[in-house]
Amino acid sequence: MIIEKNIEKIKQRAKDSVDENYALLEMLNSDSFLAENANIKVKDFYNEIQGQIKCEECGECCREVLIVFEKKDIEILAQHLKENKEEIIKKYFHCFEKFDCYVMNSSPCVFQKNNLCTIYEYRGTECREFPYLDSKPFSEIFKYVFQGYSICPIHFNVIEMLKKDSEIIKAKGDLIGA
Ligand code: SF4
Ligand code: SF4
Repeated sequence: MIIEKNIEKIKQRAKDSVDENYALLEMLNSDSFLAENANIKVKDFYNEIQGQIKCEECGECCREVLIVFEKKDIEILAQHLKENKEEIIKKYFHCFEKFDCYVMNSSPCVFQKNNLCTIYEYRGTECREFPYLDSKPFSEIFKYVFQGYSICPIHFNVIEMLKKDSEIIKAKGDLIGA
């Protein structure tokens, strides 16, 4: 399969695919068996895509996604920058009490320079886990993968590959025929 890496084309496809994506999301939402069956396939898609998409040439998530640091991430960053953690919070973040974490005030991320992360070894937990496909089964995170469809080439291509999967095509056909 040809992998799409061009972010402008991805954004346009996202605009054109709203209804199609919504229908697939609803299918997965209403059929947990279908979503769980996709876990291994998505892992394979991800492994295939990973070798072809280089995050260091993209950096789109650091420009577009809400940037969240946990308390322990702030402490690690403070140690690295040799600054007081309260100062770091004051300069870059606001507290999101409901989830006991900190959200960056600005976007793109202040630590992104020339597409790269200047604090890579000390980046936050969320930064490490995005695009999540390494750490969690698809059936637990597919809502986030759909949210990332217009931002992250990895999310975009995983969903596009899933749309071509025979079980998904059959389930779609059954739904239309029902
Ligand atoms: S800390 Fe680094 S990885 Fe995280 S959003 Fe900023 S630039 Fe990206
Ligand atoms: S995780 Fe996705 S959006 Fe972020 S840099 Fe990699 S390909 Fe780009």
